[in-house]
Amino acid sequence: MLKEKMEKALNEQINKELYSAYLYYSMSAYSESLGMAGIANWMKIQAQEELTHANKFFDYIHERDGKVTLTAIDAVDTEFGSVKEMFEKVLAHEQFVSESINKLVDISIELSDHASRSMLMWFVDEQVEEEANVQEILDQLAMFDAKGHGLFMLDKDLGGRTFVDETASGE
Ligand code: MG
Repeated sequence: MLKEKMEKALNEQINKELYSAYLYYSMSAYSESLGMAGIANWMKIQAQEELTHANKFFDYIHERDGKVTLTAIDAVDTEFGSVKEMFEKVLAHEQFVSESINKLVDISIELSDHASRSMLMWFVDEQVEEEANVQEILDQLAMFDAKGHGLFMLDKDLGGRTFVDETASGE
């Protein structure tokens, strides 16, 4: 049985993951408006990944005989300034999510909830990957000043990303 404090924090995390999906869908739409179909594809897959994260918390709460409570999702921006600014916002958002996951780990330690701590370690590793992926894109954007042929090539490259449900493995 989940303790109330952990149940509440995990429910808040579901909201954050769903907000993340909403944010990335909005970034995908913004990318489409710029004619960047490859970046739009990358963002859409990013959104799909966030849904699997929300789902992992959703299933875990039920597995521990807890109660899932879905609350309102905040509105997201619809304009992001430029491709570069948009990816800077992705990195800042992922850093915020990493911080949130770390706080959940702190709670699991405080409550001696080792099952939750074990489940959360998957997210700790996932966040390292998320931040590294976005940093790599930002590094590439810096190389060609986020324009010209370089941007065209990056758009093509990100268009090749396909969805893989990473939460499906190892369960
Ligand atoms: Mg996530």
